[in-house]
Amino acid sequence: MFAADVQNVPQEAFTGYLPTKDRVDDLVAQAHQRYAGHTDGTVADYIPILAEANPNWFGLALVGINGSTHLAGDVDVHFSIQSISKAFVFALVCESIGHEAVHERIGVNNTGLAFNSVIAVELNNGSPMNSMVNAGAIATTAMMPGDTAEEQWGAVRSGLSRFAGRQLEIDDGVYLSEMRTNKRNRSIAGLLDSYGRLEKDPLETVDVYTRQCALSVTARDLAVMGATLADGGVNPVTGERVVSADVARDTLSLLASCGMYEKSGEWLFEIGLPAKSGVTGGIISISPGKGALATFSPPLDSAGNSVRGQRACAFLSRALGLNLFASSAHVSHQDGSLTHS
Ligand code: GLN
Repeated sequence: MFAADVQNVPQEAFTGYLPTKDRVDDLVAQAHQRYAGHTDGTVADYIPILAEANPNWFGLALVGINGSTHLAGDVDVHFSIQSISKAFVFALVCESIGHEAVHERIGVNNTGLAFNSVIAVELNNGSPMNSMVNAGAIATTAMMPGDTAEEQWGAVRSGLSRFAGRQLEIDDGVYLSEMRTNKRNRSIAGLLDSYGRLEKDPLETVDVYTRQCALSVTARDLAVMGATLADGGVNPVTGERVVSADVARDTLSLLASCGMYEKSGEWLFEIGLPAKSGVTGGIISISPGKGALATFSPPLDSAGNSVRGQRACAFLSRALGLNLFASSAHVSHQDGSLTHS
């Protein structure tokens, strides 16, 4: 749309910095302490094995663009990445086919409906709508580089591993449990295919998508993955460029409007950051140019977003000055320079 018109204009960015290391450590510890005792929410059980998660698990990991790491609680517990994978697969597809093609072939508007809605596809004439709901995510996985499902799966796994800075493994128990029960995702893929909106075989694509969701991560991994998007596409721990700065920016704008399902508007209003959540209780919130916060706590609200995670993000977004929309009044100095009060 407008991207072609401005593509030769240099992308400028000015985002500010995180507070000092001690201050961030202290606030992350405070956030953990503040919400560890909260017990609202329900652990997901529509994929049977997920019901085994401990509702008391609560981990917070914040990684800055210089690789600085701030941790509290259960940051090394492994869980399946689930929907958070959608953000990174989107970035990889965007890198391979480009901004315009993703915009045209998938879309970037919120459905206003649940993440696994079938009716959203019908209401929009077969459009998958956006890559953060299941329909769009399945269509996006089908666009991963590779001729066969096996090659596409290899590209998903190695791509997400580059974001994490280590080789990610699949949790076979989660993959098999979801494959036995994911009739709805198979239906969504079949429906997209009936509209000619799926570029590969529907059942094979659902298989790759289900493996993608079963990749095993920790809160610490997720923070590194998110920090790569905050650092213009360069992994701040390994120093490897994973995607271009334009793709990192595009991924974050999509997360801002669609990352928290039908509650994305409320999330932006309350927290003011691009974010993505998953049904295992993870949330990544990204502060462009500063870093990323990953929270992990399995009990979810009705939209499928972690309850403790949302609270911890709200606290840290405010206390660390991460909210993209917050500003403080300026002060003009004699020499003409400006500072903020
Ligand atoms: N694999 C899950 C599904 O497709 C992911 C959903 C999620 O995390 N919201 O249903």
